[in-house]
Amino acid sequence: MATIFSKIIAGEIPSYKVAEDANFYAFLDINPLVKGHTLVVPKREVDYIYDLSDEELAQMHVFAKHVALAIQKAFPCKKVGEAVIGLEVPHAHIHLIPIQKESDMLF
Ligand code: 5GP
Repeated sequence: MATIFSKIIAGEIPSYKVAEDANFYAFLDINPLVKGHTLVVPKREVDYIYDLSDEELAQMHVFAKHVALAIQKAFPCKKVGEAVIGLEVPHAHIHLIPIQKESDMLF
């Protein structure tokens, strides 16, 4: 059965798209920790980020870097933090979180 993120990528569930290429998709988190909180997901459905091959993981991080730099322009902030959680949705993803100050860091 397709994950909720695969349905988002397929356009079956609406999302606010931030960026997309052939292999990855980035969109705003529905329950953001801060404004601009974005999720980066591989189009290939795997449960957890470390189930990806080394090559896919490297490509995903390069994609995430470009998305993070774009987020930094759109939501002016000190840095964009990156987190791997994966408790809720069994489809590999990275959280990109704009950080203004230390108290924004909730984890
Ligand atoms: P995790 O699996 O890393 O613990 O968290 C999954 C994240 O996906 C959560 O931050 C949650 O808000 C987000 N999320 C879950 N369902 C949806 C959805 O349907 N749309 C969007 N945009 N985000 C979602």
